[in-house]
Amino acid sequence: MKWLLTLLLGAALGVVGTVLWLGRDVPSAGTPGPGPAVTPAPTAQPAGPPPPPPGQGQPPGQGQPPAAGVPLPANSLPEVPTPAPVPPNATSVDIDVKPALGPLLVPVAGVSAKDLTDTFNQARPGERRHEALDILAPKGTPVLAVADGKVAKLFNSKPGGLTVYQFDPSEKYAYYYAHLDSYAPELKEGMTIRRGQMVGYVGTTGNADPGTPHLHFAIFELGPDKKWWEGTPVNPYPYLTAQGR
Ligand SMILES: [Zn+2]
Repeated sequence: MKWLLTLLLGAALGVVGTVLWLGRDVPSAGTPGPGPAVTPAPTAQPAGPPPPPPGQGQPPGQGQPPAAGVPLPANSLPEVPTPAPVPPNATSVDIDVKPALGPLLVPVAGVSAKDLTDTFNQARPGERRHEALDILAPKGTPVLAVADGKVAKLFNSKPGGLTVYQFDPSEKYAYYYAHLDSYAPELKEGMTIRRGQMVGYVGTTGNADPGTPHLHFAIFELGPDKKWWEGTPVNPYPYLTAQGR
């Protein structure tokens, strides 16, 4: 019995093994044949005659040269839409704000940026808003130009008292100094002044509280006509504190 079973089992295993072997052998033999033959043929031939199998033939060919360029196109394609619209905005912002309005010198001698208080949005009776910075200092303290520019106007107004309107070199912005006790002796309209140059002295002229001498300093963006008395208020605080002194 045992030997018979063993024989049968062995025969069975042999058959199975043979079948498996054959089955494996056949496919493997068949596959290698057609595979290599087919693959090389298309690849090799497409290279010459691109028309039929362009899909495979051209990609490799194009892939090579573009290989270096591929990464760029791939990246640029997705980014292109975004960057395209951004540049205009970024450019306009930079041109409008950065060139003309950089860090400004605190316009009162002896006062540092950390001493300043942002009172730009402070509500004021009879006015929309303060739209300026008040820098307190003893009467007679030198008032200095915040940046290079030109004296556009020396004006005595009821609210501002003795005032100086200075245009920046691009004439895009005006710097306004008010409540001056007096002007610097040599100051004249139209003259070029340098950052740090004295334009006058702190005072209480105009509607300033006589007991609280201070410089009322403002910046406004000039209109297309560059009228010294007209413009859009700009908060000086960020520019005066930008350089930390
Ligand atoms: Zn003020």
